[in-house]
Amino acid sequence: MVPRTVPRPFGLKTSSLVHYRLFGTVVTTPISPVSQQQTPLQTPISSSSFDNAINATGPRTTWTREQIAEIYNKPLIDLTFAAASVHRRFHNPAAIQMCTLMNIKTGGCSEDCSYCAQSSRYNTGLKATKIVDVESVLEAARVAKENGSSRFCMGAAWRDMRGRKTNLKNIKEMVKGVRSLGMEACVTLGMINAEQAKELKDAGLTAYNHNLDTSREHYPSVITTRSYDERLATIGNVQNAGIHVCTGGILGLGEKPEDHVGLIHTVATLPAHPESFPVNALVPIKGTPLGESQAISFDTILRTISTARLVLPTTIIRLAAGRHTMREEKQMMCFMAGANAVFTGEKMLTTACNGWEEDKAMFEKWGLRPMESHETVGGQQELSREQGGGVQNEPEFALGSTESPRPSQAASATIL
Ligand code: SF4
Repeated sequence: MVPRTVPRPFGLKTSSLVHYRLFGTVVTTPISPVSQQQTPLQTPISSSSFDNAINATGPRTTWTREQIAEIYNKPLIDLTFAAASVHRRFHNPAAIQMCTLMNIKTGGCSEDCSYCAQSSRYNTGLKATKIVDVESVLEAARVAKENGSSRFCMGAAWRDMRGRKTNLKNIKEMVKGVRSLGMEACVTLGMINAEQAKELKDAGLTAYNHNLDTSREHYPSVITTRSYDERLATIGNVQNAGIHVCTGGILGLGEKPEDHVGLIHTVATLPAHPESFPVNALVPIKGTPLGESQAISFDTILRTISTARLVLPTTIIRLAAGRHTMREEKQMMCFMAGANAVFTGEKMLTTACNGWEEDKAMFEKWGLRPMESHETVGGQQELSREQGGGVQNEPEFALGSTESPRPSQAASATIL
């Protein structure tokens, strides 16, 4: 029997994935929201960006801002359902990447990022330190590995790496040491040039984090000491060196919804999608210009994650700073909608972090498990880019499977 459908309430348009049934309708057809087969429940052809995102077979870099806005502005219930469906097509929904972050050089930064405790321009009470020695970093990485983290991320509060040859040498030793433990290594060191990116790649760096923070339009309200284009130049240097890019944003910087669309549009139209997209919720720090900011609403976080999942289907989406303020149920909604990485351990760079024990208990309860090192399909875009392509690759992870997609393929990334 073919189930009866009814028009969506409130005059909203129907999509190919969202079907409204009369209560009590007997369903005798298999329901697979992302099935490749045409069933009576699916609309075969659609020109809507939402439907196209739902039916994507791989990442594409030709998004327009209007198309992303169309997706972002969908009713949240439809948006999260669609994102969850796409997530299951491209990723193993049970696998969450566990990353541990270490601040290897705290405070004293010359930049004026208005949310940051580490800027020397604000009186936040944070004490600046010198760079941590290599062995201490590796000891922390060992502890992280023993606790189930597969990625170790090292952050230094610098504007850039100019004149930091000795520091770079030490950081390369840290990267080599972390990789020799069988972990993925990520660093965030501010702006780097092409040569520095190549040196880090040669040392075995898995990923480089350099967040865009927000949209191009809102960016000057948050940071004035380096431009959006300078950030994009560093991302380009990282991509060109063959290092995975981790770049995302912070929600709650006084931006508007269109700035979330703008941020996603910028990363979605890079030459290749970033391997990971961190979504941070601002943790207001007293003494910074944004220290008294209102917390961003959960529905905004969920909407942004869901949109990112639809627009960046193979990218790892990291629920980053601010997760410790979320109840477990909210975190689970984010995981269902497509977030598949977290920071876990003792601390973020300067703010609180959910601990390993807490995360292990949550994972066990909800049927999640830590992602293995290099276990993602995100690597396919990087691979494809190296082969001269980069978009619309066929996913290799079947809907409903609980097996790892392609454990042998390099991939993944980080932060902030
Ligand atoms: S966010 Fe990074 S660059 Fe900006 S002030 Fe903080 S440490 Fe410096």
